[in-house]
Amino acid sequence: MHFKDLGLSEPLLRAVHEQGYDTPTPIQAQAIPAVLQGGDLLAGAQTGTGKTAGFVLPMLQRLMAMPAKRDARGRVPIRALILTPTRELAAQVEESVRVYGKHLPLTSMVMFGGVGMQPQIDKLRRGVDILVATPGRLLDHHGQRTLDLGQVEIFVLDEADRMLDMGFIHDIKKVLAVVPAKKQSLLFSATFSDEIKALADRLLNAPVLVEVARRNATADLIAQKVHPVGRERKKELLAHLIKSGDWHQVLVFTRMKHGCNRLAEYLNDHGITAMAIHGNKSQGARTKALADFKSGDLQVLVATDIAARGIDIDQLPHVVNFELPNVPEDYVHRIGRTGRAGATGEAISLVCLDEEIFLKDIERLIKRSVPRETIPGFEAPAGERAEPIVLGRMTIGVGGTRRNAGGGFGGGRAGGGGRPAPRPGGGGGRPSAGGRPAGGAGGARSGQSQGPSSGRTPRPGGGNPPRGRG
Ligand code: AMP
Repeated sequence: MHFKDLGLSEPLLRAVHEQGYDTPTPIQAQAIPAVLQGGDLLAGAQTGTGKTAGFVLPMLQRLMAMPAKRDARGRVPIRALILTPTRELAAQVEESVRVYGKHLPLTSMVMFGGVGMQPQIDKLRRGVDILVATPGRLLDHHGQRTLDLGQVEIFVLDEADRMLDMGFIHDIKKVLAVVPAKKQSLLFSATFSDEIKALADRLLNAPVLVEVARRNATADLIAQKVHPVGRERKKELLAHLIKSGDWHQVLVFTRMKHGCNRLAEYLNDHGITAMAIHGNKSQGARTKALADFKSGDLQVLVATDIAARGIDIDQLPHVVNFELPNVPEDYVHRIGRTGRAGATGEAISLVCLDEEIFLKDIERLIKRSVPRETIPGFEAPAGERAEPIVLGRMTIGVGGTRRNAGGGFGGGRAGGGGRPAPRPGGGGGRPSAGGRPAGGAGGARSGQSQGPSSGRTPRPGGGNPPRGRG
């Protein structure tokens, strides 16, 4: 199958060809003809599958086929609206719109918070065909009447599961209330919880369903490895791996913002250029970190899960889980940053005894065990025992137990471990005890929103495990 078999017009085929792509990915092969038909679409696909071109290419073609209703001053209204959960993803999607639409006379704009409103207002005034936005800033503009969504013909909800996971459901509903009822709607999601199904029911009209294999079923291109390590030796081991392996582009994940900053500082102190990227960073700092990392000026980008969502870097050779995620699906998202679109990659996890419970959950999800390789000199010291990890209101304990931290491990004793409950301000980027993660916002989110895991792994205490907000 070639792109030219999908019914795309010449200017789009030329742009795709200039990107070096001949063969559509499975999601593109299914989604492009379906969207060109004009109907609604429900697509099960995650980042790394080529989903962006899957909706951008046919959207551009449809916009070209439908003449814009210009206003008295000849300006185009917003005709396509793409909502994304994060600023980084919004920027990348808009970049794709520009890349694939380079031979077309359509205008696009990216809009997110953390930067001034006025330049966005100025740009809107000049007329924009395609708007890629995060929900908060979009609603700010709508509230101030600086944008009109009354002419939207195509509406895309990208990474809908992550949007709900980040608590955007109310914002999404507000946006749906102000776009026309009659429009073409496309919903992309990596997972399908009941909440996503409810949203799809509300938004979509007789949608075509397309789904591509989840990455955990197709992770063959990614070499996964676990290095068991002493709790206090992780930073040293990471520096050792980067230096001895002469790694130049490494994406490192931590659970919490605090740990993210501390790790970047440690690496810089040890001669490895690193920057942290998380939700407390200004947009300017996030954009610069990502640009430096992409260009190769920065060796290591340390990120939390939410900040890293949507980072699209071709053929990223190394992903390191400095800390395993407590939500197993996040592991799949994380390692999906490597081995993308046909390239091979390596995903390494530094796992201390406390995290064995997370590793078990992950291996259950991906239906395979990840090979262990101990690096001599970095193993856990004799006598080191697993300690529970506190995340928000939940204590995730040794021996496979998960409990609410409020009820806790009675008397400050870790179940089975024979060790005290987590030390306040515990090292290695671990959250402090006391009911909130050291990283601040968003720890106690159990039950607040449905994450990717909803409907699959029941969690004690109700709701989903809290995740460090990026
Ligand atoms: P996405 O899932 O949209 O984030 O895309 C993942 C990566 O695959 C991006 O870097 C795209 O540029 C790349 N890509 C998209 N379509 C193709 C294709 N047909 N062949 C090879 N790579 C592609």
